Amino acid sequence: MENTSIDLPSWLHRIKLPIPIESLKYINVYMISDSDSFSLIDAGMYNMKTFYELSKEIKKLGYKFNEMESVIVTHFHVDHITLSPVLYSLGASDFYLGLKDEKVVRKGFDKFITKALKIYINHGMPSSEANEISKSHPAMKLIDVYINDLQEIPWITVSNDSEIDLYDLKFKIIEVPGHTPGQINLYNKEYGILFTGDHVLDPITPQITLTDENTDPLSDYLDSLEKIASLNAKIAFPGHKEPILNPSKRANEIIKHHEERLNEILKLISKSPLSAYDIAKKVKWRASYNSWEEYPYPERFFAMGETLAHLKRLENLNMAEKKEVKGIYLWKKI
Ligand SMILES: [Zn+2]
Repeated sequence: MENTSIDLPSWLHRIKLPIPIESLKYINVYMISDSDSFSLIDAGMYNMKTFYELSKEIKKLGYKFNEMESVIVTHFHVDHITLSPVLYSLGASDFYLGLKDEKVVRKGFDKFITKALKIYINHGMPSSEANEISKSHPAMKLIDVYINDLQEIPWITVSNDSEIDLYDLKFKIIEVPGHTPGQINLYNKEYGILFTGDHVLDPITPQITLTDENTDPLSDYLDSLEKIASLNAKIAFPGHKEPILNPSKRANEIIKHHEERLNEILKLISKSPLSAYDIAKKVKWRASYNSWEEYPYPERFFAMGETLAHLKRLENLNMAEKKEVKGIYLWKKI
């Protein structure tokens, strides 16, 4: 575990765990404890190395697995939730998940991904490529955990009115849809401490992907950022990278980032109509590869989903429209 120079209250420990996702490398799991028991914010990923490191840290901090009580999962993504069944089998009893994310897990995560890929094909992605993406998506590799193991957990669902009490500390639940439909943040007002999951990250920005044509995840996400910016929390503990000392400022920076991306995409479709697939190839993404073909398949999934999320917002703002041409949607600026 890497120590930051920030002094944490005695009830809080940050546990940095390695994960087999190249673009992220680590996830932060947070331990909240009193003298003889502990709870975790996020479970981590179903992966032996991740579990080994978690076990070592828990031991180093002076606890045993049978002293684990609650596990609060910020959202259903593979790096945050899939270790939950292992922790459940080890004795943790109370598992919390946002109401809307629990619904996706119950319905079957495989359907969630398949539905998204169908949309991508309608928006110009060759079906052979969608197939490859489906095979290489990190969540699809652990689909058995989603379909079987995660279903065994008696999830306690939480939403905006919920509060979780742990060891005399109160954590208000804030629903922050965008990165997933039901991601939650936890806020302890007394300490001004916010746990953001993947809602607010620094210096990276979370992926906002369209996976359902009837939703507008980017607009949801921007609203969720406003919500966090208005909290004026002292410090945020995110799911990846380092603690964020001014979460409101960071939330506003991310809002600006998406405004720039919306303008970039609008410019790309101002001359002639393009499919979302063609736009995704032209956007200047943070990860730099020389050509689309060099992008790893999971990255292409997110690039495509992110492009569509921006297009959907532009469509709802009456700034862009799509038209079907030979079975594929083409987008143009209004
Ligand atoms: Zn994550």
